[in-house]
Amino acid sequence: MADGQVNLSGIPAYETFVRLVTQNIGVMPEIKLDENGTAHRIQIFDGPDAIPRVLFSKRALARYKCCKDVLGYVLGKKSPESLCNMACLLLGKDLLLNNRFAGAALIAHAFTKLRSKYTCDSEVFDYMLAGVREDNQAATINFFHPLAHEIGHLERAQALAPAPIHSDKFLDTYRINYDAIWPIVGDLDYQACQKDEQSPLYLPLLREEVISDWFAVNAVMYLVCHRTRDRKFEMTEAFASLVMFPLIAAFEETCLKEWRSTRFTQQVLLATQCRFSILIDSMRATGKKLFPNHHADVDESMRDMNTLYDEALRIIWQGAVQFMSLSGDLMKLTDFEVAEYIRKETHKEQWFDLHSYLAAILDDSKGYPIFESNRAALRKAFDTMITFEALVIMDNGVVIIPKKGGS
Ligand SMILES: [Zn+2]
Repeated sequence: MADGQVNLSGIPAYETFVRLVTQNIGVMPEIKLDENGTAHRIQIFDGPDAIPRVLFSKRALARYKCCKDVLGYVLGKKSPESLCNMACLLLGKDLLLNNRFAGAALIAHAFTKLRSKYTCDSEVFDYMLAGVREDNQAATINFFHPLAHEIGHLERAQALAPAPIHSDKFLDTYRINYDAIWPIVGDLDYQACQKDEQSPLYLPLLREEVISDWFAVNAVMYLVCHRTRDRKFEMTEAFASLVMFPLIAAFEETCLKEWRSTRFTQQVLLATQCRFSILIDSMRATGKKLFPNHHADVDESMRDMNTLYDEALRIIWQGAVQFMSLSGDLMKLTDFEVAEYIRKETHKEQWFDLHSYLAAILDDSKGYPIFESNRAALRKAFDTMITFEALVIMDNGVVIIPKKGGS
């Protein structure tokens, strides 16, 4: 199939989604599935009747699903250390594919704590899309929530937001949420950050994100409540899934990008908390509208979401602080030191799995800026980890053991 030509029409949830978006903002953007781009993008064209386009990145969507699974796992274990290890895998991949050998050290570190099998992005995407076609609720939310959020960035969607978000009342959000997270992250001059264009707390930026969240949560709740085939709406599951959206953004911002400072992490988490506080209000209001006879259930679910959120924020904070220190050290290593680090830190028994993982990343590099010469050099370096006298790994993954004394 040609680039970006995955056909979404005919999928009932997509038809409902198109109707919903058109009714609310007067236009359905053209959705182009972007095969190799690593982030979603919006394109706006000149002219009164021009239709905006959303380049919906398969890679970004796969990363979103992956981060969501990681956070779910980490929250289940209540372990900031797990978060740090998972971040090593994810940032390590990104570094490698951006010509940075230090990524291998991060991944090797993760392998001293866990075993993991690499799944390439296109497989993750196909799996998600298959779930959407089968009208699976979790898959429907995972697929449409990021898409609805992107559409929420369009001017027409922004204009729909409730008046208090557009007014000065929004400023109270900062103060209230700062008081809420101060015990976790400590002192921060958030008022200065509101005017700093580089900060996630920059007023116009945060307001826009909050409105996109608001738009997305309303759209997706409507969508999953109006699914076909008489499927049941699983309320608690849906709320728990929707509430993850800003947390995933926080995880990506704090752990999957390089050289984050503690101060920047504080800002990200306050922005996350602000987004959450408005998101949960929207979920409560929309939930009560959609289920007029179940107000008490909705309120109870929201209390659970608050508890989940408090815990998640604490774990992300602690995990991110650990990760900043660890990754800062590993990223300073020279190529030679990286090789030494891998040799010393990882046990021989881990090499086989580690090798498969690293090789799979190189195979999944389409669209990333890795140089061909680097790919070849990396492959060679990784292969030396497992090429013992008696064991040879062929290109197709076959393991052969040469005959004793044979040539
Ligand atoms: Zn956004």
